[in-house]
Order: sequence, then structure tokens, then C-alpha cells
Amino acid sequence: MMMRVLVTGGAGYIGSHCCKALASAGFEPVVYDNLSTGHRHFCKWGPLVPGDIRDADTLSRTFEAMRPVAVIHLAAQSIVTRSNEDPQETFDVNVAGTLNLLDVMKRYGTDRIVFSSTCAIYGNVESQTIDEACRNNPINPYGSSKAMVEAILESYEAAYGLRSVRLRYFNAAGADEKAAVGEWHEPETHLIPIVLDVAMGLRPALQINGNDYDTADGTAIRDYIHVEDLASAHVSALTYLLEGAPGATVNVGTGAGHSVSEIVQVVSRLTRRPVPTLHGPRRPGDPPRLVANARRAGQLLHWQPRKDIDAMIRDAWRWHQDLRKADGVQSLTA
Ligand code: UDP
Repeated sequence: MMMRVLVTGGAGYIGSHCCKALASAGFEPVVYDNLSTGHRHFCKWGPLVPGDIRDADTLSRTFEAMRPVAVIHLAAQSIVTRSNEDPQETFDVNVAGTLNLLDVMKRYGTDRIVFSSTCAIYGNVESQTIDEACRNNPINPYGSSKAMVEAILESYEAAYGLRSVRLRYFNAAGADEKAAVGEWHEPETHLIPIVLDVAMGLRPALQINGNDYDTADGTAIRDYIHVEDLASAHVSALTYLLEGAPGATVNVGTGAGHSVSEIVQVVSRLTRRPVPTLHGPRRPGDPPRLVANARRAGQLLHWQPRKDIDAMIRDAWRWHQDLRKADGVQSLTA
């Protein structure tokens, strides 16, 4: 019988790619998603149960009916700016929602979880690359909420034997090669889709959030990871847990950093379109540099990223053009 895996947030950008990767690895993904930011038509690889992770009744009924062997937990409020403006919402969804989910898991004896954590828990870091031993020092409520859940999961493993892999994502980018699913947020706050809108002429310019950081070109550096590579890390983490291994915290990045200005250049080169920029203030809660030391993922999970920044931008561009065509491009010009 196919092993069922509950994927909270499975209708979202990263979640949908995880479902695809799970299905090709022989699992049956069951999406649990309140569709607040997710898309119903992104659920192509298994059933969708509409529901909120804070809703214990719906969650219990789902566990009762589906009996998942494990959970991949991505449902969250994941926008940094929004977490600064409304921390109550972020902590409610990300922390209280997760506690609720863990409670239901305990009751149904589901004792393995892959958790969507983030490099935002590191905050401002001096070193060139960040390994998992680096002290947690989040500088926004989003990062704090994820650090809290990591701590909760460690306690739950010690006390209840609930094993978890905490995957600390760096910056997801790109889309499925065949453009079945991709990045689609309303409103969009993420760098690459915004730059692609500029390249399409749907926005007049990219506002660069700060050009006075202590980096080579003054703009902030991130470690972009292809969403398919990120998805395959979840399957590796799940396999690791199913083999009986103890919980772990693992960075998921490529180890290569790219500044905002570099991303603009790559997009301009690959799309052969101009990308006008203008300089704006730093965005509160943005660290200057977040680049992974991703060795542990290789050693422990036998996982390696395959796609570089050019592949990410190419795949994102293909997806983004289709999305905007389907969307009726005029919606963004206002
Ligand atoms: N960024 C920018 N202009 C934009 C959107 C993003 O300069 O219109 C910057 C942002 O401040 C950060 C980097 O691009 O330094 C990556 O931001 P994104 O929101 O994509 O991911 P985050 O690192 O916040 O998760």
C-alpha cells in the first residue's frame, strides 16, 4: 500500500513541488491547506483537504480518515514584512497552529515530521556561510516563530519520541521544469518574481531595498535554491526519518550567494530585457547576507542541489510568463 504523507501548506509554492516530488518517489501526498495563499489547482498529486492547522476538529477528522505515516509541515505565515506588521497573526498560525498539529499527531500516533524552517532564524551573521551550529538570533517575528517551533520539536522528540527534521530553507526560487506549478503570491513581495515583472514591462522598475549594506555591491545577498531541489530535500528527510534516524536540523541551500544587483543582471542577461532599478530604503528585518553551509544535508540526508542560479531564473521566467498571460497582464500595471 502506498504510504500517505500529510502535507500542510501543500497548495503553496514550495508545498506543491513537495507533493510532486513525493508522488514521484512513490508516496501519496494528502494536502491540508486553508487556501488563504495556496491554489486549489496546485494540488495535482493527491487529494486536498481544505482546513486550517488551528482547527483541531478538521485536523483530527483528516488524521482519522487518512492515517498518514508522516507529516510535512509547511503551512505558515511566511512573509517577513507581514510578521513585523502583525506579529499576533504570525505567532498564532506558526506557533499555536503547529502546537495544535503536533497534538493531533500525538493522538494518532504519527511520530515523524519534516518541518519547514528558515535561515531567517540566524538573523545578522558575520561569517561568509552559516552552518547549523550558528546561534539563533532572529531579527523579525517570522524568524522568531520558526525558532520557537524548532525548540518545541526538540522537546517533543525528547519527551514523546516525535522525531523531526527541521529543514532551514534559504531562498526558494524557480519553478517546475514543465511549468505545472510555480511561484504565485498575491501580493508578490519576493525579489525574483518582481524582477521578472519588471522584465515583462508590468512594473516600471525594481526598488532595491538598501544599497548601503556591507557587501561588495552594497545590496543584500541571499542563497537561492531551486524549488525542485528544495522539494527533493523533503523526500530525503522523510526517507531518513522512515529509516528510524533521530531528529536533525539541516540547512537547505546551495552555498552560493547572489546579491540583489546580481539577480537583476542575471534576469536581464537571460531574458534579454532591460530591468530598470531605483534605490529604496532597507526593508526592516532584512539581514545583509544569508548563505548556507549545506554540507550536513549532503552527509546526513544524501542530498545535493542540482540547479544553479541561471537554471532557477530560466525556469522562473518560463513559469512567470505563462502565469501573467493567464492572469490577464493588465492587473499589475495599476
Ligand atoms: N528585495 C528588493 N526589492 C524587492 C523585493 C525584495 O530589493 O522588491 C530584496 C529583499 O529586501 C531581500 C532580497 O531581495 O534583501 C530577497 O528578498 P525576498 O523577499 O525574495 O526573500 P527573503 O530573503 O525576504 O525571504
